[in-house]
Amino acid sequence: MERLYIDIPEGAAAILHRLTSAGYEAYIVGGCVRDCLLGRDPKDWDITTSARPQEVKALFERTIDTGIAHGTVTVMMDHEGYEVTTYRIDGEYEDCRHPKEVQFTNKLVEDLKRRDFTINAMAYNPETGVVDEFDGIGDLERRIIRCVGEPAERFDEDALRILRAVRFSAQLGFEIDEGTCLAIRDKTAQLALISAERIQMELVKILTSPNPAHMKLACDLGITSVILPEYDKIRGVSQKTPNHIYDVEVHTLKSMEHIEADTVLRLTMLMHDFGKPDVKRVLDNGREIFYRHPEISAACAERILRRLKFDNDTRTKVVRLVKWHGLKYDASEKSVRRALNRVGEDIFKDFIKVQCADIQAKNPVVIPGKLAMLQEKEQTYHRIIEEGQCFTVRQLAIGGRDLIRAGIQPGPLLGAVLDKLTEAVIDDQSLNEKEKLLALAMELKDDPDIFRPKEEANI
Ligand code: ATP
Ligand code: MG
Repeated sequence: MERLYIDIPEGAAAILHRLTSAGYEAYIVGGCVRDCLLGRDPKDWDITTSARPQEVKALFERTIDTGIAHGTVTVMMDHEGYEVTTYRIDGEYEDCRHPKEVQFTNKLVEDLKRRDFTINAMAYNPETGVVDEFDGIGDLERRIIRCVGEPAERFDEDALRILRAVRFSAQLGFEIDEGTCLAIRDKTAQLALISAERIQMELVKILTSPNPAHMKLACDLGITSVILPEYDKIRGVSQKTPNHIYDVEVHTLKSMEHIEADTVLRLTMLMHDFGKPDVKRVLDNGREIFYRHPEISAACAERILRRLKFDNDTRTKVVRLVKWHGLKYDASEKSVRRALNRVGEDIFKDFIKVQCADIQAKNPVVIPGKLAMLQEKEQTYHRIIEEGQCFTVRQLAIGGRDLIRAGIQPGPLLGAVLDKLTEAVIDDQSLNEKEKLLALAMELKDDPDIFRPKEEANI
């Protein structure tokens, strides 16, 4: 084999050098070796060594005890941290997820054996070159994800590897080896034992990869039926309407491909139609409708994101985007102001991206027209923001205090009057003057319909 050379950053090279000069073995290992051989930029440079954690600490000035029990010390080099982990064998596994104990070893090969996939089980240092016991290089060339050792056993040890196989397949565009696939199908039930946090991390990596449509593979392999059964429900759900030619699953996958690789946006597209199976109705003429599906999808997204323990910011943004994704409005200033009021200025750019991706996954016949309209709406939106037009209660020329001074009691009526004033100004900006709004408020406070919400179907 031709000797491969890897360009290691100075800090990592210095760590390898100091460890080997002190008589220990040391290599860069795992993801960084894989990425270098693929010509990709590694995210981080992990180091594996025969030195024990205390021995590592004795050799470097600045270290952090990252995971001493598991053999990991972070060594700081020029303000850059490198994880240095002692060669280890993971002891017997409990519950398909935690090694009961870890055992240190002096043999590099033992450490490589515990790693998940052949392409992740290579080590390198400048003296030895690439150590590749399991033909990781061959699998990189064949573009295959394959377990180190017996797949079924490896998934019994840690079921998260099932999801990681799909994750690396999505990130690298590789196929999963047949034997590994068979074992995955057999072992998916064990994913139920894995913590939500670990599932979430891998799911996000699939969704934000260049191949988010690999969610289909996760479903084919039986993975989503355990971690995301809501996905399985959209499979094969037809939508016979002039706007669509794909079923809900295919439309969903295509919409994910049409939006940038951002966690909130990809999660939104994944779940935007999850409510459709629940509300589908077939009309007499054979047409299929999904009345109010965005609301149902939003409730569904809320449950999923809580279950998978997403942070509040991600959850609330995604739920709002899913809820509003189907909002109907036109390109007039009035209509876009109303949309801004409902959706919220903070996520309006994302909302337009979501609508754009949704359109691009529809019937090709309707795409150009809908995209042109969306572009017009976007121009109107920019104009509204630039001109500082009023579309929220905060931008009104009067506030709650003015109304209290004018004799309206604080409470629900005050809130309702402010809402109606906002609606009126959204319709007609010339009303946004103190005198005019006060006069209108006096009329509104006695209006018997004051608490009735405006019909939302079409704004
Ligand atoms: P990324 O570029 O996403 O960081 P990575 O390959 O570095 O990819 P990590 O999750 O950072 O993946 O793990 C680092 C290395 O540790 C892997 O390359 C693999 O060798 C090993 N590893 C990580 N998780 C597992 C696991 N669950 N089972 C076995 N080995 C694992
Ligand atoms: Mg890594």
